[in-house]
Amino acid sequence: MSTGNDEIPSFDVSKPSPARMYDFFLGGKDNFPADREAGAKVNAALGDVMTHDIVWENRRFLQRTVRYLTESGIKQFIDLGTGLPTQGNVHEIAQDLEPEARVVYVDNDPIVLAHGRALLATNATTTVITADIRDPAAILDNVDLGALIDFSQPVAVLFMAIFHFIRDSEDPAGILAAFRKRLAPGSYLALSHLTTDGPDAGEVDQVVDVYKNATSPIVFRPRQEITGLFDGFELTDPGITRPWQWRPEYGVKGPQTDWLLGGVARLDGA
Ligand code: SAH
Repeated sequence: MSTGNDEIPSFDVSKPSPARMYDFFLGGKDNFPADREAGAKVNAALGDVMTHDIVWENRRFLQRTVRYLTESGIKQFIDLGTGLPTQGNVHEIAQDLEPEARVVYVDNDPIVLAHGRALLATNATTTVITADIRDPAAILDNVDLGALIDFSQPVAVLFMAIFHFIRDSEDPAGILAAFRKRLAPGSYLALSHLTTDGPDAGEVDQVVDVYKNATSPIVFRPRQEITGLFDGFELTDPGITRPWQWRPEYGVKGPQTDWLLGGVARLDGA
């Protein structure tokens, strides 16, 4: 069976990709002219808020949740929609606190595999696979993932800033249910999402327009729909909040915007 790790597929740099645009917004260098051009359009569309603030608010939230989850006893992480490596990646934070922690990175953009491999060359407890969350079985049954993740034990599944690339017609609830069904009690879901509850509607429309030309469209959702993504899990305190408000004591709080919502939830026993 091919794991997708045998060879690195080529990628089209003429169309902006969410992974490379996110890298551009973070201030990274792994992006191409088409990504920077699209990124500049998003920046121009936003009024007072900087995309830099939105992505760093999200990234700091990811980092604090990983610290919280590791301190809560989680030793296995599946990070869906990893993005390009930057500072403070999931495995660095988790393995700093728990050297045995195992991390599987998953992204559908092959550029993530290309860069992730270089970063992880000497790390036996972390791997990166190219797969799409719209096909959960391909991820859950992936042999490289199976070599590191034991589904009889709690796992944290991270869906950070990824579901806004999944359209309603692609069944976000069904994707989450497929993961939930494989998880042992005591597992966690961590999720962040762009929301229509907060930003100016005209600015949201302009961002949506820019992503129409990217490899994936972008979907902002109201709070109620984002809350629905946690169905079947018990939200932990403080519930669904702006990412910058979530447990600031677990690390760096991040810039404050009203563009995102996020939370962490636990799967209770049957
Ligand atoms: N989770 C990281 C990066 C978010 S950027 C963080 O929060 O900092 C969103 C990432 O999701 C991109 O790298 C993009 O390539 C990936 N992505 C988008 N749609 C996807 C899909 N259907 N399956 C897997 N990855 C996807």
